[in-house]
Amino acid sequence: MKCERCRVEFDEKEITNYKGQNLCEDCCFDLMNPPKTCDPVAVSSTLNIRKELGQKGTEGLSDTQKKIYSLVTEKGSISHEDILKTLNLTIQEFEREFAVLRHCELLRGFKEKGKVYFTKF
Ligand SMILES: [Zn+2]
Repeated sequence: MKCERCRVEFDEKEITNYKGQNLCEDCCFDLMNPPKTCDPVAVSSTLNIRKELGQKGTEGLSDTQKKIYSLVTEKGSISHEDILKTLNLTIQEFEREFAVLRHCELLRGFKEKGKVYFTKF
């Protein structure tokens, strides 16, 4: 069975029907959580909290956030899939942790040839 969005062949049980479309887990997640454009309020409040606490670099980050940060630093740039695989994270876990790293202007994502990669800010 093919995902109607990315056209990749999946096992029937991995396909979810979302708003009338048969989609793989990734595409479903994308549609449910459209990539948010930078949220200036969230960014400045995160940055202000860190500033107040005197935090810089990776100080004040969770262990998972530090792991993501050091992995990306080590690799220069790394694909979404590779991060999930290397750190054994689910998409949801990663998105949550990444939002903080993005807000702290530590990491950013970019797209190349249809794949999402992450690099230092
Ligand atoms: Zn798909």
